[in-house]
Amino acid sequence: MPDYQAILDEIREETRPLLCQGHVADYIPRLAGVPREKFGMAVVTLDGRLYQTGDADEAFSIQSISKVYTLTQALQSIGDRLWQRVGREPSGNAFNSLVQLELENGLPRNPFINAGALVVADVVLGSPPDPRAQLLATVRRCSDNAALRDDPEVASSEQANGFRNAALANFIRSFGNLDHSVHDVLGFYFYQCSLAMSCVDLARGFLFLANQGRCPWSGGNILLPDQTRRINALMLTCGTYDAAGDFAYHVGIPCKSGVGGGIVGVIPKQLAVAVWSPALDAKGNSLAGSAALELFTSKTGLSIF
Ligand code: GLN
Repeated sequence: MPDYQAILDEIREETRPLLCQGHVADYIPRLAGVPREKFGMAVVTLDGRLYQTGDADEAFSIQSISKVYTLTQALQSIGDRLWQRVGREPSGNAFNSLVQLELENGLPRNPFINAGALVVADVVLGSPPDPRAQLLATVRRCSDNAALRDDPEVASSEQANGFRNAALANFIRSFGNLDHSVHDVLGFYFYQCSLAMSCVDLARGFLFLANQGRCPWSGGNILLPDQTRRINALMLTCGTYDAAGDFAYHVGIPCKSGVGGGIVGVIPKQLAVAVWSPALDAKGNSLAGSAALELFTSKTGLSIF
């Protein structure tokens, strides 16, 4: 077995010069003030062993990483019927792009771009009584952290500036692909994006995807093995937006990123790895985080290929 602790410590040193590059997301004003020097990384193996380095215990805004949990929730509630309302192809466009939606009649390309996540949020809103509480319970259960919570200031900061998401939601609604009000869908979406988790939470919280859908802590099934395999496939092809091809090439494992600077990767039947560095590259993925994951798969020799 690779010496994960030594590898994580090495990666932290090797990526240090990158922390001054890229830009912290500032279109959500509350995220703009997060110090770019932060760097954390954590690995949890299927037998429950945890390795971590740097600021791996510090909670940050998971943003689009939450889309994996809402997709999980939607598949739990309506299964394959979801695919009548959202596609499974990489978009090749920015995560918040509007252009494809018009050409494709309000059917988002995949659940991990914003348009797709808004449709998924609409599906999740259809499972009463309390979809927010249900999401929080799932995330807490997966990461085995009952203290985990949302950050209302991040949510209201995005709500006050989320003009593009409002445009997307209105547009989708005009095609009849939202059942709930634009206001409710956006409210839920900003809530999910505001969940705050550390690298340790995220590595633990994604381990069910390396474990055929079974939560290693509670032993319960979050998803069926078949559904789990499909989420991993979607993370590989769509999880890092229009950089997904590059990620498959350089990193070689399913990953999901967020503009809070987090990226989580899954190696089926082996481990989950999470990294956090707030400054982003031009595609909205953590710049040092992407390099760290490439170093991780190169140094460990792990890849799904
Ligand atoms: N809340 C962010 C947005 O909608 C999430 C985007 C992301 O993390 N890529 O713009």
